[in-house]
Amino acid sequence: MSARVVGGQLAAQFAPRVRLNEPLARHTSWHVGGPADVFFSPRDRADLIAFLRALPEGVPLLWLGLGSNLLVRDGGIRGVVISTRDALCALERRGDREVYAEAGVPCALIARQCGKWNLGPAEFFAGIPGTVGGALAMNAGAFGGETWRQVAGVETIDRAGEIHARRAGEYQTGYRSVTAPAAEEWFLAALLHFDGASTADATRALLEKRRQTQPIGEWSCGSVFTNPPGDHAARLIEAAGLKGLRIGGAVVSTKHANFILNEGRATARDIESLIAHVQEVVARAQGMTLHPEVRIVGEAA
Ligand SMILES: Cc1cc2nc3c(=O)[nH]c(=O)nc-3n(C[C@H](O)[C@H](O)[C@H](O)COP(=O)(O)OP(=O)(O)OC[C@H]3O[C@@H](n4cnc5c(N)ncnc54)[C@H](O)[C@@H]3O)c2cc1C
Repeated sequence: MSARVVGGQLAAQFAPRVRLNEPLARHTSWHVGGPADVFFSPRDRADLIAFLRALPEGVPLLWLGLGSNLLVRDGGIRGVVISTRDALCALERRGDREVYAEAGVPCALIARQCGKWNLGPAEFFAGIPGTVGGALAMNAGAFGGETWRQVAGVETIDRAGEIHARRAGEYQTGYRSVTAPAAEEWFLAALLHFDGASTADATRALLEKRRQTQPIGEWSCGSVFTNPPGDHAARLIEAAGLKGLRIGGAVVSTKHANFILNEGRATARDIESLIAHVQEVVARAQGMTLHPEVRIVGEAA
């Protein structure tokens, strides 16, 4: 059964937390993306479980944090989008060295709170403008730190609304890659382990360094491509002469060549075309294949 067919029923049952044809440009840091058939912001865990149980089998499901690593195409999402933003926001200290964080907690808050608790290394979370759920899915990392290095275990939820407790060792993780032990399980929370300290001063210094080298505050998804082994995508793009290159309203940043900016009127199609063009030119000029770090989802318009 399609999400469009069940949308009305879900909207009636879960009003006002279900919105139909919700433009995803409102929920992504590139500020592009067509509508989701059904967009759900759960009130809490019980609400989320009830929603999953009400969802007919086979309806496609996409989880969304802060949309800071997602290119949603202009035709939008045929299916259901579950947003953890402003939901699943518990953040608690557990014992001496552990922190329990639900999927909707912004990574920046982890850095801030761990600074107050003097637990680290957690400064790197300040550089990731997404949620804990997104950071777990991406194995997000910054300033030499990486999400899964700090994970002791996670709680996940499946389509049937069943909750699972999993150890970190059940996941295979690498540079911006995570292989889960089961398909169709999504992150509800993580238990993070810290064996050192972190300070607000160290976090501020790292953020200042970032401000000097990256176009922070502009509409982007951070680094578009992963770094190839032993090299940097930004160096390859700059060496190919692509800084400042533009398609429609999308432009390769002149400050950091691995960032593509929406200058205000870009479509997802502009951005995707620019991604493909950069890949093509770098492959021709340098013989290197660049792989997108950003996840590209949805239908073309
Ligand atoms: C200015 C800027 C700088 C950035 N710098 C960095 C950086 O230094 N390092 C870095 O790693 N990233 C960086 N990013 C990218 C991005 O912030 C990270 O990838 C982040 O982890 C994405 O989190 P999110 O909540 O926004 O996820 P989203 O973009 O909403 O989703 C990303 C993926 O995670 C999945 N997902 C989201 N929540 C869940 C969940 N609960 N369970 C299962 N899957 C889920 C989504 O389905 C999607 O596939 C940057 C982005 C920007 C805009």
